[in-house]
This record gives sequence, structure tokens and C-alpha cells, in this order.
Amino acid sequence: MPVVCSSCEKKNAVLKRPKTGLSLCKDCFFWAFEEEVHQTISSARLFTAGETVGIGASGGKDSTVLAHVMKVLNERYSYGLDLMLLSVDEGITGYRDDSLETVKRNQQQYDLPLKIVSYQELYGWTMDAIVKQVGLKNNCTFCGVFRRQALDRAAMMLKVDKICTGHNADDVAETVLMNFLRGDIARLRRCTAITTGSEGAIPRCKPLKYAYEKEIVLYAYFKKLDYFSTECVYSPNAYRGHARAFLKDLESIRPSSIVDIIHSGENLSVKEDVKMPVQGTCMRCGYISSQKLCKACVLLEGLNRGLPKLGIGKHHKLLAQEPLTEKEEKKLKAVDF
Ligand code: SF4
Ligand code: ZN
Repeated sequence: MPVVCSSCEKKNAVLKRPKTGLSLCKDCFFWAFEEEVHQTISSARLFTAGETVGIGASGGKDSTVLAHVMKVLNERYSYGLDLMLLSVDEGITGYRDDSLETVKRNQQQYDLPLKIVSYQELYGWTMDAIVKQVGLKNNCTFCGVFRRQALDRAAMMLKVDKICTGHNADDVAETVLMNFLRGDIARLRRCTAITTGSEGAIPRCKPLKYAYEKEIVLYAYFKKLDYFSTECVYSPNAYRGHARAFLKDLESIRPSSIVDIIHSGENLSVKEDVKMPVQGTCMRCGYISSQKLCKACVLLEGLNRGLPKLGIGKHHKLLAQEPLTEKEEKKLKAVDF
């Protein structure tokens, strides 16, 4: 016998909400999902009327749902925001070229301006070329650091006031777990913040911070949104993979684990005397950095010098303080990484 929607009590339920366990019809689910995002946005005062907001768009399910929901809510609640899509082309053949086609279709479907910046034009390197040089072990470190800056640069070009990204509750909980397991106190403190980057960088926020990945998939599916679901061809990221698998196990036993971990992260207090990195600016490119050179410049220097591991792990400190002298470089080349 069909189950009746527990919200409207009229239509038949088509799904059981992963977050609450309630059986809902399609329309009640859409409404509940959108209202929760609106709650997140309004209670954290993420935006102010008149702002230009860049939506980080990869063509994947999270950013496609984010773009759709932001457009719906901006109209429903008259946020008064100028929305646009910002995309980064990492130069990954067989993955990003296809997903960018999805973003271009989204641009038409949602009638939003789109700006694409590429690693090739910003750094002179594509991820395809980087992987050829560094292999498949640390590629995501390069990619993550470069993407962060690339998105900021695209936002600056378009005079965007804020960037919002499609990070969902599962992503945030995974990051809390990873930073906890690594003992990375500075990141642990920052990673649950709904808005980051107020000191000099363009503020970034996560309107889907409390939205479960499973619900994002359901929303995209029932709304028939056009998104790209293939995994990156260079996606090893083993550590995050373990955190993800662990989180999925926890979720299957207790669905609230995801949001509970986020709340734990939010409520962690760091002792007064714990030393935190001081933010300054990179002496080469001017991007915010707690070292003399920002991470992207260190990684780029390594790539251009044929020392791709320079920015990875403990050796990066050396370069971050001072550019290498010839003698130091020779010494470094002799080190077996
Ligand atoms: Fe970049 Fe790694 Fe993500 Fe691929 S999986 S897009 S290489 S960060
Ligand atoms: Zn820099």
C-alpha cells in the first residue's frame, strides 16, 4: 500500500528523507530541502542585498544543485543578489572538458553569466602536464591549491563580492575527521566556518553546509537537473577516501552522525596559547599567505624547476622562507625524496 506524505498528508510519498527518515512526496521534499538551505543562509546572514555572488560551478551534482537552489531562493525571497557562475578548467582531458560542457548548458538553463579560468592561462600548467611530472600521488595537492586561487582570481576579474561553493554536510564532516586525525588544529578550527576568508581574500561561503549528500542526489534526480557525474580520472586522494568510507559506515548506523560531527567541530575550542599562523601576503603574487611565498607559488616553483616535490611535506618550509640559492638547490636535488 502506498505511503502517504507525512507533510501534506495528501499525495503519496516517493522517498524517505535520509536526514530525518520522514516519508515525503516530491513537492514536500523540494520545499523542505530549499527551506533548510534558506534557513542556513538567513540565520548565518550569508549575503546582503545588492551583492554580486559567484557560484563555484564544476558541473557536478553539488554545484548544480547549489546554482539551482540559489536561483530559486534569490527569486522566492528577493535576496537581491546578482548571481553568476565561476568555473575552473584544470586541464584534465576526459573529465573537466566534459563537465565544463555541462556548466555551459547550466548557464543557458539558469540564464546566468559564466566565467571560466584555466590552470593553463593562470599557471602555464594543465593538470594533465602536472600529473605527467608528479605522478598520481600528490596531484590533488597541486590541484586543490591551484583551484582555490583560480576561483579567487576569476572572482576578482568579475568584481564578485562573495563566492559560494557546493560543499555539503558530508564534505564538511569528512574534513573535520581528516583534520582531527592529522592533528591540524588551525584547519580544524577553520573548516566548519560557514564563511571563510575575510582577511584580504574574497569571502567564501557554503550554503549547502548542512545538506546531506544523499539528499542532494535525490534533489538533482527528482528535479531532473543536468549534471555530470563521472569521477576525476586522477582521483586517488586516499586519505579523504578513508574518511569518507568511515563516515558512510557511521551514517548507516546513525544518520545524524554527519551533522553531529559538524557540530562537534563547530564547538571545539582551541586553547588561548595555541600558536596560529599569521596571515600576510605572498611576496611574489600578492595572494594571502602565512609564509613569504604562498603555497601555489611554492608548488609552481617546484614544477618549473623540475623539483615537483618541493612544495609537498616538510621541504616546502625551506622554500617558503626564502627563494633557494643555487647551493641549496644542488643540495636539494641530491636529497632522495
Ligand atoms: Fe583535481 Fe584531485 Fe579533484 Fe581530480 S580528484 S579534480 S586531480 S583535486
Ligand atoms: Zn603566491
